[in-house]
Amino acid sequence: MVVSPSSMIDKLISEVSSLVGGHSAPATKAPATRSNDVATGGYQAPIKGNWANSGGFDSSGALRPNGRRGHSGVDMRAPAGTPLYPMAPGVVTNVGTDQLGGNVVNIQHANGVRTYYAHLSTVKVQKGDQVTNDTVIGAVGNTGNASATYPHCHFQVWKDGQLTDPAHFFSIPPYTNLSAEEKKQGPWLSDQARQEAQAFNMQDHVSQKNKTASKADKLLKIAFEYCKIIDQSK
Ligand SMILES: [Zn+2]
Repeated sequence: MVVSPSSMIDKLISEVSSLVGGHSAPATKAPATRSNDVATGGYQAPIKGNWANSGGFDSSGALRPNGRRGHSGVDMRAPAGTPLYPMAPGVVTNVGTDQLGGNVVNIQHANGVRTYYAHLSTVKVQKGDQVTNDTVIGAVGNTGNASATYPHCHFQVWKDGQLTDPAHFFSIPPYTNLSAEEKKQGPWLSDQARQEAQAFNMQDHVSQKNKTASKADKLLKIAFEYCKIIDQSK
């Protein structure tokens, strides 16, 4: 059977996009916001249920005389395993792990808005995934430099490259210390959440995607070489 060049390319493209696309959600409309709508809604808190404020935004990033630094985001305190959602629909630009943030996710949204979620116990998305307001991107934890604290998500947001107070996007409750209720409940949402986090390995999670990404890269190279041959034979 003779395969036509165009059907061959179509097949390659569909194979590549199925690999690159991961588990992308169906295309969603960008939130209907203009830049001056930032404070007027269209955004959600990354935790849909109850959470407490363990530390608010403080833009004075430099070391202050009292030895304390400013705070680049808000610490959203909730039991480890509590699901996290993006502040708005967008595309995952990075998932990774480091000593400071632990397991982290970065998301690019419409209108020059970018968000960062740190100290996650598990991560459910991969770089390149499209996310909606209902996509669980991971769960609250205390990975990174938060290992000695009650679980929380350090959340920060940039607007046009400028670090911005999350309070411009969703309402932030006043700062509170750990309540008697929280102490009673303990740091985990459930045993299941704890087991899931123990089984989670960020390196594996990322390298799994890299494997499919490198396969996609190879297919793209084949398609590219194939197109060159077709061009030359014209
Ligand atoms: Zn923080």
